[in-house]
Amino acid sequence: MNSRMSFNIGNITIGGDAPVVVQSMTNTDTNDVAASVAQCKRMIAAGAEMVRLTVPSLKEVDAMRQIKEQLRAEGIETPLVADVHFNPKVAEAMAAIVEKVRINPGNFVDKRNFSQRDLTDAEYEAAVERMALRARPLLDICKEHGTAIRLGINHGSLCDRIVTRYGNTPMAMVQSALEWIDICERYDFHKVVISMKSSNVQTMMEATVLLKEEMEKMGCSYPLHIGVTEAGSGIEGRAKSAAGIGALLMMGVGDTVRVSLTEPPENETPFAHQLLQAVRELQPSQCVVTNGALEYAVDEPDFDLWLAKAAALTGYAYYHHHIKDLHLQNACFKPDVVRDMECTILQACRIRMSKTEFISCPSCGRTQYDIQSVLSEVKARFSNYPGLKIGVMGCIVNGPGEMADADYGIVGASNGLVCVYEGKKRVTQAIELEEAMAYLQKLVDGTQL
Ligand code: SF4
Repeated sequence: MNSRMSFNIGNITIGGDAPVVVQSMTNTDTNDVAASVAQCKRMIAAGAEMVRLTVPSLKEVDAMRQIKEQLRAEGIETPLVADVHFNPKVAEAMAAIVEKVRINPGNFVDKRNFSQRDLTDAEYEAAVERMALRARPLLDICKEHGTAIRLGINHGSLCDRIVTRYGNTPMAMVQSALEWIDICERYDFHKVVISMKSSNVQTMMEATVLLKEEMEKMGCSYPLHIGVTEAGSGIEGRAKSAAGIGALLMMGVGDTVRVSLTEPPENETPFAHQLLQAVRELQPSQCVVTNGALEYAVDEPDFDLWLAKAAALTGYAYYHHHIKDLHLQNACFKPDVVRDMECTILQACRIRMSKTEFISCPSCGRTQYDIQSVLSEVKARFSNYPGLKIGVMGCIVNGPGEMADADYGIVGASNGLVCVYEGKKRVTQAIELEEAMAYLQKLVDGTQL
């Protein structure tokens, strides 16, 4: 196999020497075809070169078909990706319709019940074989239709089998990917993209580089989709994404990227393109480390481009030199803005925590409450608790696992209601938002409940 593998997904090439592809995901209800088509068009106009939509059940399959038909009827050929969790039948249905299907190996067949039972080797092998057998129909349909698959491995949703054997570690993520690479190759299926996502910048970088090294040992190089998941919003979300994605791109790792923000999806791609520009303009020689601190002076007048450059270089410096501090200079901004930027980037890389960390998903068609407003309110109320991590997640299906190591969380239930979590434990029923905020305040303050 070619060591720099590439292939077409619809009308674009991914991998090899092809340019890095920018993608994003809708947050409309997929069954609302008109709203989804309109949002896809806004995202594509804003620079999305591939668009993903959630397909939670077989009920959304026909809507996806209509969305694709309407876009193609308007001459829009942007490849569409179906995001599928838990249900192989949905993945099989979508593989005949869209250009790429994203599955999560952590929940395709395996389960996540936080069970701690270690399996014997024979039980472990049998579980992998069951997964391979269940994967075969999907891979056959993909081969027939030229559809690609993304193995979307998330640190927060590894299955019990993997976590019990390898821990909740970057290596566990790599093992999950390697199992599926083996399954795909066994059935002679090679149109595979792999992502190793985490809300922790260091974890996603480590897992992605480890996977690349493991693939090199195997003599293959499947394209890599890179992103920091649950990065949040605003400057903090952009800083996390730029640190993780930018640093990996500086190392020559990554074929397609998604900047995930808890904002309208059409905000994601302009920053992703600025990040690609930042990486083109940065040189590893600019990584000057003095006494454990990265020194980066540039008079860059564009705030977002400066943020992208400074964060990418910091992620790179942290990965290679384990820096402990960051000294920025930029005469285009006031000194307090420059100091704030230092703190935000150091926090994004978890080098120094000077305020609360917010872990929030970008939301998708599974979300049934106004997550963007709620995140703004949570940020306004709980920003000054250094070291505390608060999750704000769109849905109860994936949210609790994906908010990873958050101390507390607000997770969307149905009909605009939310649940409050303490770690992985749900501590309220589905309640009104106002009540949840008061409950969260008491938890954070350590008040008797
Ligand atoms: S956690 Fe957020 S992005 Fe993930 S499936 Fe739920 S709503 Fe969608």
